[in-house]
Amino acid sequence: MKLGAHVSIQGGVDTAPDRAKAIGGETFQIFTKSQRQWQAKPLVQEQVSAFREKLGHYSYYLACVHASYLINLASPKENTLRKSREAMIDELLRAEELALPYVVVHSGAHMGEGVEQGLKQLIQSIEHVLSETAGRTNVKLLLENSAGQGTTLGADLDQLKTVRDAFVGEDRLAFCLDTCHLFAAGYDFTSAEAYQRLKAEIDRQIGSRNVYVLHFNDSKKTPGSRLDQHEKIGHGKIGAQPFSFWIRDPDWDHTIAILETPGGEDNYRRELQLLKGFR
Ligand SMILES: [Zn+2]
Ligand SMILES: [Zn+2]
Repeated sequence: MKLGAHVSIQGGVDTAPDRAKAIGGETFQIFTKSQRQWQAKPLVQEQVSAFREKLGHYSYYLACVHASYLINLASPKENTLRKSREAMIDELLRAEELALPYVVVHSGAHMGEGVEQGLKQLIQSIEHVLSETAGRTNVKLLLENSAGQGTTLGADLDQLKTVRDAFVGEDRLAFCLDTCHLFAAGYDFTSAEAYQRLKAEIDRQIGSRNVYVLHFNDSKKTPGSRLDQHEKIGHGKIGAQPFSFWIRDPDWDHTIAILETPGGEDNYRRELQLLKGFR
């Protein structure tokens, strides 16, 4: 498992690998555009070249993109759905340009239409996005589990399984699991036994081999609260120790784990040191 954090692209996308290196990251995650705007300028070619050169230089072959927060691939609103699908296609093609293998996207929200209808819409959107980009890129779309806040989908692993079952044999659809979201959704992994139970559940529902990115975040909120509030590792309701279960489990060797905790670069540096110590 490679350990890293979400870093800024302020000053150009090519500044991200240097930021990741400076905090001791073995990988990283970025937004490739402002995460709160639909429109994005194309990437600047000199920055793309410099970025790709730095990936090689630092051996960051398994870094990832986080898609815009605006995207809701399960939206019942035609306009939002259309913009979400277009934006998702753009995210995958930008990742391709940057030679990054994964784009993480939230599972979306049904906005009152119900889980079944939401999942149906989500599946149709993924079909559309994958077929529109087929032959143009092999970048994987990774659906992220949610905390279950509001009408968000994907807090329960069986919902992710429903999506997976619609794409048998499609290796471009895979998953990202966020520890804060799992915990807030009611999945316990704070003891070795509880971790093993969760691991078995993940294997039964989506398969740990289909998870390529882990988001390592502590949680401000209690188990089952269904509230998504990240906390610094060791400062929340999860605590630091449970992360050692994930790090020492060889079934996650193929994954990258990304911190999305508050506190900035100094905190990331401390957390990465702490997590590396669990190896
Ligand atoms: Zn996350
Ligand atoms: Zn979150």
